[in-house]
Amino acid sequence: MYRQVTQPILGMFYFAGEATSVHHAWVVGSLNSAYRSVLEILIHEGNLTMIEKLTSPDCPFHNRTRSTVS
Ligand SMILES: Cc1cc2nc3c(=O)[nH]c(=O)nc-3n(C[C@H](O)[C@H](O)[C@H](O)COP(=O)(O)OP(=O)(O)OC[C@H]3O[C@@H](n4cnc5c(N)ncnc54)[C@H](O)[C@@H]3O)c2cc1C
Repeated sequence: MYRQVTQPILGMFYFAGEATSVHHAWVVGSLNSAYRSVLEILIHEGNLTMIEKLTSPDCPFHNRTRSTVS
């Protein structure tokens, strides 16, 4: 189910929100899903500069959220 609700559609529609997180029903799930969605969009766009920033240890969200982008 998790895989289905997080699957982007046509490279145009990305789904975020606590319901699409493994930590559903919590704010941390919202943040995790936002991080994952933004990363998915950046990967789709090939925006290496922003991917590097988002995955850098200096990024405040790095290590605080668990990305499931594969
Ligand atoms: C009473 C209560 C207490 C809670 N306490 C805690 C707590 O102590 N700790 C904790 O971690 N979590 C708590 N939660 C859960 C937490 O609030 C949610 O997990 C979190 O807010 C979900 O965030 P979200 O951004 O995924 O979704 P939401 O915060 O639900 O945001 C979704 C947004 O989309 C909007 N929307 C919906 N449909 C449309 C549409 N068709 N077009 C445009 N906009 C639309 C909605 O108006 C809403 O603003 C609590 C929840 C409730 C109800």
